[in-house]
Order: sequence, then structure tokens, then C-alpha cells
Amino acid sequence: MDEFSIDPAKTTLTLSDKERMNLEGFLEGHGNCTNSELVMEIGHGSGIGVSVELTCRKCGGKQDITDYGIW
Ligand SMILES: [Zn+2]
Repeated sequence: MDEFSIDPAKTTLTLSDKERMNLEGFLEGHGNCTNSELVMEIGHGSGIGVSVELTCRKCGGKQDITDYGIW
């Protein structure tokens, strides 16, 4: 797992439209949480795609934003 601070404008990861939408929804849902506590975990294990999971360390919220439809 690689960890990134969430900054959609700066991430080098290519997100599908759906993943970007999920990411924006997650950020909106955590508007009251500290931005620096939001992290993005990228999984490379499967070999058929990249899984993207967001974690908010402030409130403990987690969301898998992977767009499995494009695998
Ligand atoms: Zn949160």
C-alpha cells in the first residue's frame, strides 16, 4: 500500500470519472475533518487494476472508491 495525502489536483494517479466523483463525494462528506488527516491508499496487489481506498483518520471513516467497472 502506498499512502498519499488527498489532493485531487496534484495526485499523479489517473482516476476514472467515477473514482473522481467518489473522491469528491468523500471530501464533501468530510468537510469538517482536518484535510491533512485524509489519506488515500493505493493497492497494487491484484495485477488487474489498482484499488483506491480513502481513509479519514479524523473520524475513522473509510471508503473504497475503486471503479471496478473499468477492470
Ligand atoms: Zn472524516
